[in-house]
Parts: sequence; structure tokens; C-alpha cells
Amino acid sequence: SLQIGIVGLPNVGKSTLFNALTKNNVLAANYPFATIEPNVGVVGVPDPRLAELAKIHSSQKLLPATVDFVDIAGLVRGASKGQGRGNAFLANIRDAAAICQVVRAFSDPNVVHVDGKVSPADDIETINTELILADLQTLEKALPRLEKEARMQKDKVPVVAAAKAATELLNDGTTLYAGAKAKGIETELLRELHLLTAKPFLYVFNVDETELGEEEFLQSLRDLVAPAEAIFLDAKIESELIDLPEEEARELLESVGQHEPGLNQLIRVGFATLGLQTYLTAGPKEVRAWTIPIGATAPEAAGVIHTDFQRGFIKAEIVSYDDLMAAGSMNAAKAAGKVRIEGKEYVMADGDVVDFRFNV
Ligand code: GDP
Repeated sequence: SLQIGIVGLPNVGKSTLFNALTKNNVLAANYPFATIEPNVGVVGVPDPRLAELAKIHSSQKLLPATVDFVDIAGLVRGASKGQGRGNAFLANIRDAAAICQVVRAFSDPNVVHVDGKVSPADDIETINTELILADLQTLEKALPRLEKEARMQKDKVPVVAAAKAATELLNDGTTLYAGAKAKGIETELLRELHLLTAKPFLYVFNVDETELGEEEFLQSLRDLVAPAEAIFLDAKIESELIDLPEEEARELLESVGQHEPGLNQLIRVGFATLGLQTYLTAGPKEVRAWTIPIGATAPEAAGVIHTDFQRGFIKAEIVSYDDLMAAGSMNAAKAAGKVRIEGKEYVMADGDVVDFRFNV
């Protein structure tokens, strides 16, 4: 499945954050938490809709969608030239579908900063420079081959143009994710190169708890990374929250002016950054969130449950979560005309509550 790679300079709080993420079992006793490899965490996507649906259907089990985070340690200055774990590190990032960059903004003098000072802007530049240099190497190596192909196949000409435009943008110090769209560069054409900076980015600023409420400061960090998403949290607080009973966790959150853990935001934004959304199934046995790409059709959504469901798809009975909750029960929603019958062409919406009809 699609993975979000956590990267950042040493000592910024990556492991603290990753450990908190992989302990994140706040949702349900039978939460499908697992650690496949030591550095991969399968994390439940917090979704309060599941508990509400479970009330309506007296469901026994809640099964949230999951998202995979990978802790990719070892990015140091010079990684693109083979420093540190250099190439192994870059290969790990290549496998990730999105990049979550952790940036230190907390000031604790007891935690050494690799460059001697806390500067989010400089750290982001250091990391992005390594990723940019790696992409420039990839492009430089590929260009002669792409040009040769373009001489034989005219339809490859735009690929060469995209590669050249991407090289130019990267040489200006801009990531493809941040800059390609504005320059009209079709990074899709360069898909086979698995360029690191073309992946969707999101940034986690690890801030002091006192900074969580300083909106001007947070906005200045947001501005550094736009159009990428920015999440603000205190990794140390997050790791404490995970181990606290619910009531005490709520009190700790309130004491730092927050109403939900930063991890929850990170997981939700990460899921969306991967281009994913969920639809829901609900019955007495279980309530479950299923993961589909944004834009998936009803038969494709059925196929996530079982390939037979997609092959034998007839129709889907669908009510939006909000309509169902407003009506209060499935029967009331039906009586109010809120339950729709949708066919093969239907494009799923987030929060659709679905019953598939199919031939087997
Ligand atoms: P990594 O090298 O990026 O994985 O960083 P770690 O998670 O190992 O954290 C490095 C050090 O910083 C550890 O001593 C952590 O306890 C500390 N640390 C991590 N996050 C925070 C934070 O939000 N605030 C403070 N004060 N210390 C933190």
C-alpha cells in the first residue's frame, strides 16, 4: 500500500513522532495496528464517524482506514553525494508515495542541533537541496536516453521538454511539487523517473508547546512551505498523550490550548496527501472505513472489499454520512428519499455509506 516517508535532519524529533504514531491505537480495541518492519507503522486514521455509525447499527467492531508511515532516518547534508547512508536513504524515499518532512522549531538547548542553531527555513533548505540534487542527478542520467527515444518516437518529444524544464526549475532551488504546476511542467510525463521532489510533500513543524497558540509564528512557518500542508505539534507532548488515560490526555491537550492531538491531524492530512479518501460500510457485525483513491467509481470501490464484488457489481445503495445522521436511522433516511441507487459510472464521495449489490 501507499506509504508516507518521514524525513528530516537528525535530532528534529522523527523517532519521537514515529513511535507515538505507531502507538496510536486510540480508536478501537480491535484496531488493526501492526508493525511490518521496525521502521514501518500501520496507523489507524482517526474518524469519529465510525463510532456514530456504530451507535445507529449497534455494531460490535470499528475498523478504521489505515495509513502507512515509514521512518526514513539518515538524511544528512551531502546525502545526494553518498554521505551518511546516502544512496540507501534516497532509495527508501523513492519507494514512498509522499514525503513528510519533520522540521525542528522547538528551542530546547539540551537537544543539540546538527548545525548549531534552530532555523526551520535553513533546515528545510538543507533537506530540500539534497532531494533536489538527487533529482538533478536522475534527470542528467536519463536525458541522453530520453533524447534518443524522442528521435525515434515523436510522442516522446514532450517528455524531453518536461525533463529540461524540470532541470531548470530544480537548478533554481525549487522542488517540483512546489513549482512545477506554476511553470506548466507536466511531471506526470516523468513518472518513470520516480523523481523525489515531484512527490506530494507535507511538513510537520515540531514546535514548543508554548508556540502552539502563536498564530503569527505558525503562519510564518506555513508561508515557508506553501502550497504544501503544514502541521504543528509538539512531539514530546504527543508521545506523552499516547500513554495517558483518555481523561488525563484531554486535560493535557487543553492545558496547551489544543482540542485534538497533533498526530490525528498529521494522519488525516497524510491520508489526504496520498490522494486517498474513505467510504463506509455499517452493520451489526462491524462498521468499517474502506480506502479508495479520490475519483474511484462505485465498482472500483466494491473491488476494495473483494475483487468478486467489482466483477459482479450491479448497483450500490448509497446514503451520505451527513444525511444518514440527520435522519437518525437507515429506515428514516430511506423514507426521506436520501438513499440513492447508483450504477457503474458513479464516482464515490468521501463519507458515502454504502451497501453493494452484486452477482457472484
Ligand atoms: P530524530 O533524530 O529526528 O529521530 O530525533 P529524536 O526523536 O530521536 O529526538 C531527538 C531528541 O530531541 C530526543 O532527546 C528527544 O527527546 C528530543 N525531542 C524530540 N521532540 C522534542 C520536542 O518536541 N521538544 C523537546 N524539547 N525535545 C524533543
